[in-house]
Amino acid sequence: MLDEMEKTALKVKKKVYNNRIVTFAPLYLGNFCVNDCLYCGFRKSNHKIKRRILSLKEVKEETKVLAGEAGHKRLIVVYGEHPLTGVDYIADTLEAIYSVKVKTKNGYGQIRRANVNAAPLSIEDLKRLHKIGIGTYQVFQETYHHQTYGEVHPKSTIKGNYQWRLYCMHRAMEAGVDDVGLGALFGLYNWKFEVMGLVAHSRELEERFGIGAHTISFPRLEPAENTPFNENSKYKVSDEDFRKLVTVIRLAVPYTGMIITAREPARIRREALSLGVTQTDASTKIGIGAYSGRGSKQEGQRQQFFLGDTRSLDEVIREYAKEGCITSFCTAGYRCGRTGKCIMSYLKNGQEGKFCKLNAVLTFREWLDDFADDETKQISEKLIRKEIDEIKQMMPEVFPAFKEYYERIKKGERDLYF
Ligand code: SAM
Ligand code: SF4
Repeated sequence: MLDEMEKTALKVKKKVYNNRIVTFAPLYLGNFCVNDCLYCGFRKSNHKIKRRILSLKEVKEETKVLAGEAGHKRLIVVYGEHPLTGVDYIADTLEAIYSVKVKTKNGYGQIRRANVNAAPLSIEDLKRLHKIGIGTYQVFQETYHHQTYGEVHPKSTIKGNYQWRLYCMHRAMEAGVDDVGLGALFGLYNWKFEVMGLVAHSRELEERFGIGAHTISFPRLEPAENTPFNENSKYKVSDEDFRKLVTVIRLAVPYTGMIITAREPARIRREALSLGVTQTDASTKIGIGAYSGRGSKQEGQRQQFFLGDTRSLDEVIREYAKEGCITSFCTAGYRCGRTGKCIMSYLKNGQEGKFCKLNAVLTFREWLDDFADDETKQISEKLIRKEIDEIKQMMPEVFPAFKEYYERIKKGERDLYF
């Protein structure tokens, strides 16, 4: 039934997300870590890597490059687990990121949504980040299999506590952080078990809080500097099985965003998009300080794991546009309070799709005018005209307001949304 399942997965994706793709960039702020996860280049027993964290000034410099040169509007900000990068540092760095505004060709660039991938936090700490405006709070369980979890996360470390990690999303919900991102690191244990774990986790959140996972990530184990564990795993997931797991997740949780990162090569990312993936990163660098050129190139490419796709945002967007997909930089949902339960119900009754379509065109217009190179612009103009025609037909009642925003953006106004 695989063929049928793949076709259905794509249908489901089109119904909920249409032809929109969301892009973001990862921003690694530090590589100090008190944990000793066997598979990770940042683990404390890895003495071969240089450790550092970015100062607030450096965080702003990184943000300037991401928002002002590449044109990103969304980040996933990644932290190790260490007293130096605890909640105070997370709070300060989020504020630093949101404070950056850079002049661009026709307007200005800024990061409008900073998602966070960090250690499990307490309710109190999460409340603090909620106030500052954290986007999605991501914590990957890595493996849902207790025995394997114990084997790869030494008991003596904080991460050795399976339950503390497992219930951090419950704590997030209680703290008001209702966009939560689940994930498993595929390759540690049987992939079928991990898929069941992810789906069960999301369903538990939905049953208990009325809100399932906002996103699910499914990284595959990659080689990392001085990390022999990764070469020998017997649970490595083949490309064929990877297709299956993407398909099954899409079918099981239709309203959950699915993220594929640059750990995967371009070919796999392309395939995954036609099965159900809705978000990808671009112009990715994972070295600490790598965007503003402060980390060495070698450090940038090799630290936590190796990258499979290092194309620029412009190249990635051009490829999507050629396939008729529009890149959406919309962050309106969360800034208007359309998160958690609210966004789920909008998604389920098709309302969010309407907001998304309008905002996708408005934000894509901004990006094209500020950042696209000539070829990307040319390909994308056709796409944008088609989208505008569809909006006119599908939503005649909002079309005049939309058109007004669109014209204002063309003249250089920024950040107008529905
Ligand atoms: N320290 C936090 C934690 O562990 O949750 C967040 C940062 S950690 C750098 C982010 C994620 O990277 C981990 O949750 C893990 O799934 C992933 N990761 C670590 N080592 C990896 C590897 N060798 N290949 C692919 N992904 C890896
Ligand atoms: Fe630290 Fe996270 Fe890497 Fe584990 S996966 S060593 S907790 S950075």
